[in-house]
Amino acid sequence: MSDTATAQEKPSSPILQGRSLQALPDRAALEQDESAAREYLLSLCWPDKMPRCPRCAHAKVYSLSNDRLRCAACKYTFRPFTGRWLDNGALSCTQWLALLRLFAHKTAISEIMETLSLSYNTAFKATTAIRFGILAHATDSAQLLGPDTRLDSFLKGARLTGGPACMTMDSIPVYGIMETGQWAFIDLIPGFRAETLFHFHLNFHLKIVRSGHLVYSDKYKNYDTLLMCGNDSLPYDCIRRSKDKVHVEESGSPFWNYLLDNLKLLRGISSQRFPLYLKELEFRYNNRDKDLLPLLDGYLCALVRPGISA
Ligand SMILES: [Zn+2]
Repeated sequence: MSDTATAQEKPSSPILQGRSLQALPDRAALEQDESAAREYLLSLCWPDKMPRCPRCAHAKVYSLSNDRLRCAACKYTFRPFTGRWLDNGALSCTQWLALLRLFAHKTAISEIMETLSLSYNTAFKATTAIRFGILAHATDSAQLLGPDTRLDSFLKGARLTGGPACMTMDSIPVYGIMETGQWAFIDLIPGFRAETLFHFHLNFHLKIVRSGHLVYSDKYKNYDTLLMCGNDSLPYDCIRRSKDKVHVEESGSPFWNYLLDNLKLLRGISSQRFPLYLKELEFRYNNRDKDLLPLLDGYLCALVRPGISA
């Protein structure tokens, strides 16, 4: 099918049929009805019910054949979910909604695979897209999606078709953890790398503790601890053993205990994917009294690069 404009083009017909969200069936019903599930997800992509170009946000869009749309301004041809996190993976709309519900309940990937009849790769890629969607809505997302974390190596344009970058002493980032009242914060510390943490340990007596590939420190400036996820390239042998506990071990910080318990449950966590899990746990903790599903639905439907070429 040619991508050039044809006489078949017409101003976009309403893809959304105008049903209000309040009138939508409940979650269980949505998960059984592909058309209703698609309409619900589209309503999150275009809250005003009007399709917009994911590349330039122009509102005049033409419908083409085969579910495609074309922007009248920049001529970009796209599909309704192009440029959004849910455009990763080959899931139907009902499968996405069921997966989001299972993810919200921290369902193991093996159970997700069995429940939704998905392969490991499909389930893994889809849950990765959800985690990217969460991270992209953190206040420091621009920094986290940039080269400091090397998460940029996973993204090719707006698609998660890349792979992990090699990470060593001089590239593994370090995160500062802070708990204030009921809120937890996990900050990427610019310019701070694994080698910096080892340097502070060896030369400035900053206590650090290792648990597998997790390394965390005593209190540092305003942070309760500094945390990183290393790999086999790191010189763990140089860590001095101490009988004294570090600050977070003594303070009984609820978030630290929650974070460490959950990180230890993860098998084979890598330096490259570590920020995705950190931001997921920060999100879960800070929204622990809320229904996560509406938030996750919205995050998955958001543009990967809002305001930037898709
Ligand atoms: Zn456009």
